[in-house]
Amino acid sequence: MTNTVFPAQPTPLVDIAGRDEKFPVNRIYCVGLNYVDHVLEFGEDPSKVDPVYFMKPGDAVVADGVDVPYPQHTNNFHYEIELVVAIGKEAYNISEDQAEDHIFGYAVGNDLTRRDMQLDLKAKGMPWDPSKGFDMSAPISAIHPAADIGHPKEGRIWLSVNGDVKQDGNINQLIASVKKVVSQLSELYVLKPGDLIYSGTPSGIGPVVKGDVMEAGIDGIDTLTTKIV
Ligand code: MN
Repeated sequence: MTNTVFPAQPTPLVDIAGRDEKFPVNRIYCVGLNYVDHVLEFGEDPSKVDPVYFMKPGDAVVADGVDVPYPQHTNNFHYEIELVVAIGKEAYNISEDQAEDHIFGYAVGNDLTRRDMQLDLKAKGMPWDPSKGFDMSAPISAIHPAADIGHPKEGRIWLSVNGDVKQDGNINQLIASVKKVVSQLSELYVLKPGDLIYSGTPSGIGPVVKGDVMEAGIDGIDTLTTKIV
């Protein structure tokens, strides 16, 4: 066994619904601008934008019910409810028709964002990594295996803050389908078992402050509750 200079960090784990086994997280990929109404609220022309890919560190995952501290360096901290795709089998350069063979399951995720920092960096043409890929930026529900729930193509996707519904869409409104996203990502990276893909958010993005409780869900998958502290 190879010695390491200090103990390696533990592998981040996500619950799997109905199973004792955990899902070991590798990378987290995210898709931006993947619902028409969200592209419009972002002030972009849906016919002129392609979904954009970016990443968060794997250890940014936060389990359902775990509080998230309000991060530094933002005064406009946003939620984004998203369908999360969990990869279960290596995928390199695969077609859309092959994509579902590589999907282990699905979860409900929240792509937490320092919106003011993101818009500022974007305006400067600079990478906006720290606005997206910070610690505890990726709340996620339990993963529901496709073996149990199939590959959902429609279902209400919603998020409320303190009981007020802020986002209310349907996963059938995705611009790039899950199959397309998996296929495209597999051309850019070798997807590995343990990778998660946050597939984009519908319209209604907005801020939360300390004390706010976000409840979110996707019909047919799960719910996700996160308090900001
Ligand atoms: Mn997002």
